[in-house]
Amino acid sequence: MRSIVIVGAGQSGLQLGIGLLAAGYQVTIVSNRTPEEIRTGKVTSSQCMFGSALMREHALGLNFWDAECPPVEGISLTVPDGAGGVAISWASRLDVPAQSVDQRLKMPVWLAEFERRGGRVEYAQAGIAELEEYASQAELVIVAAGKGDITSLFERDAQRSTFAAPQRALALTYVTGMTPREPYSAVCFNVIPGVGEYFVFPALTTSGPCEIMVLEGVPGGPMDCWGEVRSPEQHLATSKWILDTFLPWEARRCADIALTDENGILSGRFPPTVRHPVGTLPSGAPVLGLADVVVLNDPITGQGSNNASKCAASYLASILAHGDRPFDAEFMRLAFERYWDYARYVSAWTNALLTPLPEHVLNLFGAAGEDGRISHRFVNGFDDPRDYFHWFMDPDSAKAYLDRV
Ligand SMILES: Cc1cc2nc3c(=O)[nH]c(=O)nc-3n(C[C@H](O)[C@H](O)[C@H](O)COP(=O)(O)OP(=O)(O)OC[C@H]3O[C@@H](n4cnc5c(N)ncnc54)[C@H](O)[C@@H]3O)c2cc1C
Repeated sequence: MRSIVIVGAGQSGLQLGIGLLAAGYQVTIVSNRTPEEIRTGKVTSSQCMFGSALMREHALGLNFWDAECPPVEGISLTVPDGAGGVAISWASRLDVPAQSVDQRLKMPVWLAEFERRGGRVEYAQAGIAELEEYASQAELVIVAAGKGDITSLFERDAQRSTFAAPQRALALTYVTGMTPREPYSAVCFNVIPGVGEYFVFPALTTSGPCEIMVLEGVPGGPMDCWGEVRSPEQHLATSKWILDTFLPWEARRCADIALTDENGILSGRFPPTVRHPVGTLPSGAPVLGLADVVVLNDPITGQGSNNASKCAASYLASILAHGDRPFDAEFMRLAFERYWDYARYVSAWTNALLTPLPEHVLNLFGAAGEDGRISHRFVNGFDDPRDYFHWFMDPDSAKAYLDRV
């Protein structure tokens, strides 16, 4: 039986580990946090996942929360006019509802499920010495440590990384008591030109249903305002201040909101980064990076967990197709390139939305308010952003598309 060690018990590591168990591999997952530490720790994401990623979880029998988790039925887009009103406002339904299950709830259950299905879990903060040990014992070592320090083993790919610095000051606020969107639930996406973005949608957290507020501030601008926040109460008050100041229609939904818990908040920033997929240990042994370790995008388009799921599925297919041959550095590079063939479109689209919106995108957003076919296509592209490259990404294809519709 071939043996594989995966460092990191997040979306990608656990999904890949459970997929490998089903295919008859011997798998160890190394986690630097116990299930209890994950469950009672800080939120890490807003983790909204779209149809095809959810389908993969379903195929592996990992969709434990379908009955409890409120569905996200569509996506709305609003652009303020700068005078207290809206310049653009429309919504469209997703063909398959999206879902967000707090990773604090999901990962402990997946860890237990991984063990129940025959996997081994080791609790350790894996560093270079530990990776050397795993590489001497297992045939393949995969690093799925998200934004953990160990990712520095993988060199930044300057050619494939668009930015060298963070593009947004990020914050998450998990709340209860928000007035639901009518007539159907949605990711309510608000773009405040030059200031930042705010999106909010229903989710399931450790205490039940909630809404997750995601705030993305342009660095140095008024939404880059988390530095002086010292307490959960101040974090909530700052979130409300942003809505009161820039998005009064969203503020009206928030008159009675309260934090889900003291750990239902997060703030920080990181540069979107693509890394070389093979890390070389001092002994010369290669290890393979997975998901956020190798392609880390800004959350503005809500793609990270979706990418983690797609990367795990792509690596699983590469491992199975490799048969009995050794998992050398060449195998690792090819496995990554197969995934990058998808992920590069997600990164390019996500990075484009971090820069000021060009005229052709504003025209498309305006036209989407008039024609439901355009809004429907934009909304459903979140599940597979490659479609945007046929009609959204450049002025010529946007014009050709608008002429056609
Ligand atoms: C503010 C914010 C909002 C987001 N919203 C969304 C969204 O709406 N939709 C979406 O799809 N994505 C979203 N994401 C991104 C998404 O959460 C991540 O891309 C996804 O979780 C990445 O999965 P992963 O498996 O690569 O890493 P992670 O889920 O980060 O898992 C990595 C695991 O490795 C562990 N670890 C780290 N170092 C070590 C070590 N040395 N040894 C052992 N274990 C280690 C960590 O504790 C963690 O459990 C958001 C991210 C942020 C920051």
